[in-house]
Amino acid sequence: MLCCSVALLLCCHAPLILSQTKFDTGCGWPNFYQPINDQAVSYIDDFFHGTQGIEVRCHHCNAHLGHVFADAPQAIGQRYCINSVALSFTDQQSGEVTEG
Ligand SMILES: [Zn+2]
Repeated sequence: MLCCSVALLLCCHAPLILSQTKFDTGCGWPNFYQPINDQAVSYIDDFFHGTQGIEVRCHHCNAHLGHVFADAPQAIGQRYCINSVALSFTDQQSGEVTEG
């Protein structure tokens, strides 16, 4: 279960995202509503697959994480499409770690 875990960055083990904010758009990559805080990521203007997107990088070590798009469904507004290989999930209760 990822319902109460925190996604840590594999690059530098900084906390990035709460798994409660994860949702599935069917694009094959995990999507998130928001990062754990504004200090976790840096934003860089980018062009991705013909859609204007913003590149998301790790604020700590500048590793590429994914992109943020403004086309999220319903009232979410924006979605963070994060490469799952950049993440590991740590369950806050059991401490169990799941990659991806
Ligand atoms: Zn990092």
